[in-house]
Amino acid sequence: MNEIIPCKLCKLSFEASDNQQKFILESREKKMNFIMLNCSNCKWHTDYNPTSELITFSDKEIHWRTPVSRISGYVSYIENDEEKFYGCGESGFIWLTKERFYKSIEEIIAKYPHRNDCYIKVNGEWFPNNEEPDNMEELIETEDENDLEDYVVK
Ligand SMILES: [Zn+2]
Repeated sequence: MNEIIPCKLCKLSFEASDNQQKFILESREKKMNFIMLNCSNCKWHTDYNPTSELITFSDKEIHWRTPVSRISGYVSYIENDEEKFYGCGESGFIWLTKERFYKSIEEIIAKYPHRNDCYIKVNGEWFPNNEEPDNMEELIETEDENDLEDYVVK
């Protein structure tokens, strides 16, 4: 049995193929902490940290709805030796601080009431709402195009 990889895009997990497993082991040997793997469910590439004992399970498991208008992807928190940021694998938007990321969540909730169902605030921290309505992607499609000028949200 090969390693089970959590796909950050479709949020399903898949078993690495033999070729992928070979790549993971070689990358781990080289102490690489960021590789891209093709998800066998959604066919997109998801990033994977072959030396992932550095990242706690809960950090890897949290995926917030991307707080950018008309984007129905998910944001992951990436932290390694070189960098840390919040990033959306589908749209490429990134946030360099938690404060800025949370501000985007608060702004999009203020603009679109349906976004209130995407997030839950607990003790001052924003979490994904796992009981999002089934039609959330349709609701997100009704939003205005975003007017962000840069992939780094400022
Ligand atoms: Zn996938």
